[in-house]
Amino acid sequence: MKICWFDDMKFGIVENDQVADVSAALESLPAPIYPAANGDLLMANLDTVLAAAKPLLAGAVRKPVSEVKFHSPSANPSKIIGVPVNYLKHVEEAEADKAAFTDRYAGGVIDQGLFLKANSALVGNSAGLTIRFPDRRTDHEMELGVIIGKIASQVREEDALDYVAGYTIALDFVVRGPEDRSFRKSCDTFAMVGPWMVTADEIDNPDALDISLAVNGEIRQQSNTSSMIIDIRQQISWASKFYTLYPGDVIMTGTCEGVGPVKAGDVLHCEIQNIGSMDVAVNV
Ligand code: MN
Repeated sequence: MKICWFDDMKFGIVENDQVADVSAALESLPAPIYPAANGDLLMANLDTVLAAAKPLLAGAVRKPVSEVKFHSPSANPSKIIGVPVNYLKHVEEAEADKAAFTDRYAGGVIDQGLFLKANSALVGNSAGLTIRFPDRRTDHEMELGVIIGKIASQVREEDALDYVAGYTIALDFVVRGPEDRSFRKSCDTFAMVGPWMVTADEIDNPDALDISLAVNGEIRQQSNTSSMIIDIRQQISWASKFYTLYPGDVIMTGTCEGVGPVKAGDVLHCEIQNIGSMDVAVNV
């Protein structure tokens, strides 16, 4: 099932290039309390909400996907986790251009550890990318996004996929330069997730998905998630040894080779096999 937030924060299920408005299913959510628990309320109660949504589908108001404004399918993650230098060919391109990528790319993902992006950077593709520093290099990084569905702490690799709610397209935008990675990757709109989440039951093997990004119609990034240095299970297990993962947490699983600069006026087209596609406008 493909689930989404759309337009003025309606809750939808995507079927056959149409979005069905099943917002009434949100009445099955527990009332929010303050201070709120860590994590995303919808993802923490996904099974309940989907059970309430299914009977609504037959009578739901529908809109074509092309006419819908999509927001991040995880509305309130407790954190957005990034996996650096996780495709060998991206490691090689970064090491070959230290002027742009700096020396911090030396060493593999295990040496570097995971990083975090500010939650305030999170948007769906309808927001577009806003370039903050037009005189510096801002790059696209096309990635498979993993959305956590259950509280996960110290989980074993063999159990790790049991903690996944679903998969999505993620863009880990970054300003190149000398500052700390989390700073340069946390500008508003720099954590883009969407257009929807495909529930985990529909993705048999997240470590074998074709992934691509085009800029103005020209393919720039093209790979398969099988080329990751550490796979999805390892990422979840490793992350959960350092901190608890909460429902709604997003893991941006690393970019393949072909990262490059974007400028105002560009349109990005992103695709991941069995998930879908999304277009992203670039603004200043
Ligand atoms: Mn990245």
